[in-house]
Amino acid sequence: MHPYERLLLENKAWAAEKLAEDPQYFKRLEHIQTPEFLWIGCSDSRVPANEITGTQPGEIFVHRNVANLVVNSDVNLLAVLDYAVTHLKVKHVIVCGHYGCGGVKAASTQTDYKPVLNMWLRNIKDVINSHEEELDAIADEEERSNRLVELNVREQVCNLAKTTIIQRCWKKEQRPDLHGWVYSLKDGIIKPVFEMKAGSHIGSIYEYDL
Ligand SMILES: [Zn+2]
Repeated sequence: MHPYERLLLENKAWAAEKLAEDPQYFKRLEHIQTPEFLWIGCSDSRVPANEITGTQPGEIFVHRNVANLVVNSDVNLLAVLDYAVTHLKVKHVIVCGHYGCGGVKAASTQTDYKPVLNMWLRNIKDVINSHEEELDAIADEEERSNRLVELNVREQVCNLAKTTIIQRCWKKEQRPDLHGWVYSLKDGIIKPVFEMKAGSHIGSIYEYDL
């Protein structure tokens, strides 16, 4: 059996188990998609949104990329954000990073990862650059990397607040609240590190006349 065939077999077993528990399970899910949360997380295979939050299919709208970045020219992310905020009307947007993030670590080095990854990781290098003093003062390498993960999450939450998608919704409907969380691979616990309630200010130059 090829390794990928195991996934298809497991899928059949999972579907059968769900039906045995609740014969209406798929019928209900098919017609309802009203998640309260948008999750912007890292692509890392060890940080699956539903499993670590104990949520079911239908509860979280998910976008994942390397190092959970919110880049203002990323059409993919902006389309997900717009759909989740404007159409699904989510009440919370969560940016969830994780300690030990490979993307964050890679951005901290001078290694050339070739054009595409260099371009993506540049966003994190900018976070390092704007918090150089604080980061340089941390002697322990792991601690410094952990702090950078937190600062990165905070920066991405601010990037959300700089979009007209969020600002328009804040003005009209007083939602969504924005959350910056960091997941620990060591103990499975999520630590909230930053929050912006709907209607927060981000600095006048970023605030649009909507
Ligand atoms: Zn990661």
